[in-house]
Amino acid sequence: MNIGAHISTAGGLEKCFERAEKLGCSVIQIFTKSPSQWKAKPITDNVAYDFRKRWSESAISHVIAHNAYLINLAHPQDYEWNKSFDAMLDELNRADKLGIKWLITHSGNHLGSGETNGIERIVDAITRLLYDTQDLQCGILIETTAGQGSSIGTTFEQLASMIEKIDCAERTGVCLDTAHIFAAGYDIRTSGKFEKVLRKFSRTIGLKKLKAIHLNDSKKPLGSRIDRHANIGDGEIGVECFRFLVNRKPFMRIPMILETPGGEKMFEKDMILLRKLKT
Ligand SMILES: [Zn+2]
Ligand SMILES: [Zn+2]
Repeated sequence: MNIGAHISTAGGLEKCFERAEKLGCSVIQIFTKSPSQWKAKPITDNVAYDFRKRWSESAISHVIAHNAYLINLAHPQDYEWNKSFDAMLDELNRADKLGIKWLITHSGNHLGSGETNGIERIVDAITRLLYDTQDLQCGILIETTAGQGSSIGTTFEQLASMIEKIDCAERTGVCLDTAHIFAAGYDIRTSGKFEKVLRKFSRTIGLKKLKAIHLNDSKKPLGSRIDRHANIGDGEIGVECFRFLVNRKPFMRIPMILETPGGEKMFEKDMILLRKLKT
């Protein structure tokens, strides 16, 4: 299995493993610091050692990190862009210290400066981040966005144009969020429709760039451009999309992560449903 959830690290980073195992996860996503704050206590060697040890003893194959929501790598103002850049650099170092291979970021908001400018800013940020951390293993995944406000990274074409311009191919990729692409207008409600969307992804970005999938149903309808996650089967997407994904052979090695609402109780329900959908 390659299915899991975004797990809390309350009480200590290594605490995520116990919670994940209880839910039957084999892959997880975490925040390595509070997602609503700029600063965090550094990860000490001891903390990193405990985390890696606990991970190696667990049934968890992949741990992925998600960056803080405050970070906007497409920010048009230099002061704020630099603040986001420094925070992202810190997040990359934190994730790498824990042995995490991928850090997910949203491509950010251009805040009225235009899509082209926004794409230029994020490409510049990621190119420099990867250049400044050449000795690290951890890479960056750009997540597909719902298209709320001035957010970029909503179409596969936009993501492809970012990825193409960043020249550290082995340390960049894409995280596909089902709720976000649905809100952005990609219909994935049946296996046939999802196949079509994947063909489009394959032609524009390339399937080998797909390194993680977020499994979320959507409270808002197709093309609404509003980002509201729902529990699996309770939203506008419906279960067929998820049955298709969890049974798709070429995706068996791609971590699939729930970010559905309702906390651990609801994750448990969603995990049970996903296991049922798997044939
Ligand atoms: Zn995200
Ligand atoms: Zn997501």
